[in-house]
Amino acid sequence: MATKRDYYEVLGVDRKATNDQIKAAYRKLAKKSHPDLHPDDKEAEARFKELNEANAVLSDPEKRAQYDQFGMDGPMGGGFGGFGGFDTSGFGGFEGIFDQLFGGGMGGASRRNAPMQGNDLRYGLQISFEEAAFGAKKSFDFMRNENCETCHGSGAKAGTQPETCPTCKGSGQMRVSGGFMVSVRTCSTCGGSGKVVKEPCGTCSGSGHVRKKRTATVNIPAGIDSNQVIVMNGQGEPGINGGPNGDLQIVVTVRPHKLFRREGTALHLEMPISFTQAALGAEIDVPTLKGSVKHKIPEGTQTDTVFRIKGEGMPRLHSTLRGDLMLKVRVDVPKRLNDKQKELLRQLDKSMTGKEYESQKGFMDKVKDIFQ
Ligand SMILES: [Zn+2]
Ligand SMILES: [Zn+2]
Repeated sequence: MATKRDYYEVLGVDRKATNDQIKAAYRKLAKKSHPDLHPDDKEAEARFKELNEANAVLSDPEKRAQYDQFGMDGPMGGGFGGFGGFDTSGFGGFEGIFDQLFGGGMGGASRRNAPMQGNDLRYGLQISFEEAAFGAKKSFDFMRNENCETCHGSGAKAGTQPETCPTCKGSGQMRVSGGFMVSVRTCSTCGGSGKVVKEPCGTCSGSGHVRKKRTATVNIPAGIDSNQVIVMNGQGEPGINGGPNGDLQIVVTVRPHKLFRREGTALHLEMPISFTQAALGAEIDVPTLKGSVKHKIPEGTQTDTVFRIKGEGMPRLHSTLRGDLMLKVRVDVPKRLNDKQKELLRQLDKSMTGKEYESQKGFMDKVKDIFQ
């Protein structure tokens, strides 16, 4: 990330400058560096942006106080004019197109007629836990704008051509002067295209594009997790003025499993075992994603003990490695015993010397220590 200049330095004012002094300094510099005076000058554009950012912070007493105290990073370290990361957590469970993003061509009104990448589309796709574990090929339908085939995207009736917009004379922009600054707006007559259609195309009513249903087939790689995005290049909306198509971004949501809980490549499984198995030890059948494996539980296993079963977890994305299965056993204490069974347990209990229960013995020793 590029380092930013100090906002006071940008405005050329003292740190103790009054609000009026800041406003005056901003006005003076804004007039000088307005992009209209420096067409196609990237540096001037950047300077103007920097100036506006500095003014936005320093002319707001609250933001200025935070800036004075915390500097460029802002109070939460998030910065002042920066953009946060894309958070897909709110889209969980949603399936279908939920977002239409602008393509890379947002260069401002001055480059309206330049080739621009088409809009990206974002599609929410739900897959099963097994599909995430083993990979899958999935097809789904989605709607997207495409160039009208009748007019090839021009919007003009067959045999006619769009004409130069009379309002903006083809620039796609209008200058609006308000106070000390001239601002540039998208031309309202032609919507910024610089062209107007006199006789609209009958297929698309002059818009130049039509909604079409398309089917996408995507390979889901094994090991994918929720909120990961698969990008299908060029499958978004058509490019503008000959620019490339946008992308189709597929945001994956993995449905939960009835038995397994996933944490990265580790799988967690809770499994009940009988108290006899816990006491005597046993070989148990542990369910896995692929079927089951045998696992030996040692004699005297306590409840909530976790065993690691190597390589039975989720695959690592784009790798042959697999995570582990973390098996947590729950000792199931029997209920609804009949009289004979209860009698057997009482006999068992009578035969105990007290040394058999490790943690109970440890606990009683502590109690003794306290009350002696
Ligand atoms: Zn058309
Ligand atoms: Zn126009």
